[in-house]
Amino acid sequence: MYKAKAYSAASATSPLAPFTIPRRDNTESDVQIEILFCGICHSDLHSVRNEWSSIMPTVYPIVPGHEIVGRVTKVGSKVTKFKPGDLAGVGCLVDSDHTCPNCKDGLEQLCPNQTLTFNSPDKHLGGVTYGGYSESIVVDERFVLHVPSNLNLAGVAPLLCAGITTYSPMRRWGNITGKKVGVVGLGGLGHMGVKFARAFGAHVVVFTTSPGKKADALRLGADEVIISTNAGEMQKHAGSFDFILDTIAAEHDINAYLNMLGRDGNITLVGAPEKPFAVSAFSLIFGRRSLSGSLIGGIAETQEMLDFCGKHDITADVEVIPIQKVNEAYERLVKSDVKYRFSIDMTSLKAASQSEGGNK
Ligand code: NAP
Ligand code: ZN
Repeated sequence: MYKAKAYSAASATSPLAPFTIPRRDNTESDVQIEILFCGICHSDLHSVRNEWSSIMPTVYPIVPGHEIVGRVTKVGSKVTKFKPGDLAGVGCLVDSDHTCPNCKDGLEQLCPNQTLTFNSPDKHLGGVTYGGYSESIVVDERFVLHVPSNLNLAGVAPLLCAGITTYSPMRRWGNITGKKVGVVGLGGLGHMGVKFARAFGAHVVVFTTSPGKKADALRLGADEVIISTNAGEMQKHAGSFDFILDTIAAEHDINAYLNMLGRDGNITLVGAPEKPFAVSAFSLIFGRRSLSGSLIGGIAETQEMLDFCGKHDITADVEVIPIQKVNEAYERLVKSDVKYRFSIDMTSLKAASQSEGGNK
């Protein structure tokens, strides 16, 4: 076991602050990674503030972060996929049972015995797992991804969650080429959804509550933008969509979006608001519409997504920040003020511990 510098929150109302965590020494199948960038996902914020207390209560102190990119520093004796110096990515998962039907189908994200990158029981050290707001992490090689060498690393980090979470449901829906596809919410997930839908050849329409994001939505690849608070604009598109990806992180009227679907249209929820919402039966039964959900993606699919991004030169649009700005970034995330993902330059953590005279 060794000690690593990190940032953690001590309670649902505490700011994130310097903290020292234990990391295990490599087992024979482990890869140790020096973290270079870590994206800030809205799920980090939900967890830090214990907003999902009824489903996944937060254990404190929490070290969030599951959009990790870095460089391999050490590998265990039986590691075959990586060597020191390689680029590596880690997303929301660091382990699963490898035996359940979901694991066998490459759907480790649905394994009932999965280990999440943070706030999951830690099989090795006890306590809970600690995420990527840290200088390093040790992960079983089966959960470590290869990162294409041609991409900007700060923009790659968010692919490990925002990327796969939007790529996977669009791929699963079928061939969206030429289909009318809506992306609701232009934040971290939403802007990746736009990029993928565009790359897959869909007619892409963004629903946003922020009129100031319209030009960016078009630049990112949208064909049209609907200001969702404008009833007239919404009405014009009613009943016309094949597929809609809903990425909203807060309470909203899902029926307004269900009514946008055409026959057999589907809304897939990836946004995870804290409170349940009311679904009108009529919004579903007229038009045989469906509402479903999707959780990140499996490991093989995450590698497929990264390779796709390497080939098509796709990364997240990021605002790179030092870790010292993380609390400010959280406040901006709540206000939908991020263009379009914060990516933490983890080298700032080294500077932090020096100027602050060491971690707690
Ligand atoms: P984000 O960057 O904060 O983006 C969310 C966007 O939703 C905002 O930019 C905003 O877009 C819109 N929005 C926010 N509040 C709204 C409101 N009250 N009404 C209408 N629209 C609102 O968040 P994110 O990181 O993309 O994450 C989005 C959600 O997905 C979170 O709940 C997160 O936990 C969840 N998530 C799920 C998975 C999964 O596997 N299913 C994976 C990762 C994240 P506009 O300004 O354009 O309106
Ligand atoms: Zn995430």
